[in-house]
Amino acid sequence: MDGLGKVVFIGAGPGDPGLVSYKAIRRIKQADVIIYDRLVNPILLQLSKRECELIYVGKNPDVKYKAQDEINRIINEKAALGHTVVRLKGGDPGIFGRLSEEVDSLEGKYLYEVIPGITSASAAALYSGFPLTDRAHAPHVTFSTGHLQKDSLKEIDFQALAKGGTLALYMGMKALPEIVEVLSKDMDAHLKVAVVGNASYGYQKTVIGDLSTINNLVIEHKVTHPAMIIIGDVINVREGLSWYETLPEFGMRKLVVSKGKLDIETILEMYDNGGFYYAIDQLNDDDIQEKYQTIHSEILSIHGFDEVITDDMETVSLLESQFNIKINPSKIKVNASLNS
Ligand code: SAH
Repeated sequence: MDGLGKVVFIGAGPGDPGLVSYKAIRRIKQADVIIYDRLVNPILLQLSKRECELIYVGKNPDVKYKAQDEINRIINEKAALGHTVVRLKGGDPGIFGRLSEEVDSLEGKYLYEVIPGITSASAAALYSGFPLTDRAHAPHVTFSTGHLQKDSLKEIDFQALAKGGTLALYMGMKALPEIVEVLSKDMDAHLKVAVVGNASYGYQKTVIGDLSTINNLVIEHKVTHPAMIIIGDVINVREGLSWYETLPEFGMRKLVVSKGKLDIETILEMYDNGGFYYAIDQLNDDDIQEKYQTIHSEILSIHGFDEVITDDMETVSLLESQFNIKINPSKIKVNASLNS
């Protein structure tokens, strides 16, 4: 082992930051560098220490932001400097996470650890109100990619995988119509299919149908990436809305803004109410603003927040000028004791 660098591959779970392990949280707090994916809830980054460097290497199904070689290169470059490098990945790093490619790239030069995460299939099912296996409905569950290489419809026997149990498909949204067509050839048209978009986020969308209806339902309800496709009778266990979908703030998005330093753990606890929460703090601290510039801007551009909680109106003006946005006054809620 040359150098003291260490690489920690961490499963950041599916979205709800409460679904991250205690060990993962400890390592995020210790990191000198965090290299993170698109599917990671960015609020977790705010647990990092002040001087920690954040590097976004997100990939998007349409745009390949950074090629795998480039990610491997960055991991090695930072480890070579003797840093504790956290590689934060969505879900579980060992499930469709290209973990072995990244570990191999270290060529045995650095110590490394791998921390499992809760995989999207588990969260999609349980946050939608059904399990993945069940004594009455499904004695087995299969995790498969639904991403089809050329001709791979022949390589993956989806019918065999779906027979008699649960089939959970990752990366399958693009090929959903083809997969449904293959399954429909000799399976019951009423075989249940659930598509769960953004599982365990406050804007999770679950649609339930069967082989004959699911394609239209997905279009009708505009379920988009990232989404899990889950196929099997186990979906029958769901009754009405799930425990998660009935939480008091399910569907809401709240932004907490402060000039002072917020206690991020209290923001994480807000997630127990079922919404999506994000924090922007230390607005007068240039180093902090520079550190989070990319991620804050992206979050502000993606999410329309229903409520902006702030210590005073001056903070809102500061946010507006720093990010070149306008907050609708009716959404602002002043809470003077935010960071006391
Ligand atoms: N390592 C990840 C999977 C990465 S592959 C894990 O264990 O979950 C990327 C695929 O994961 C996406 O195409 C989608 O199918 C699924 N996925 C990731 N996050 C998700 C989420 N919050 N909700 C639904 N599906 C998700």
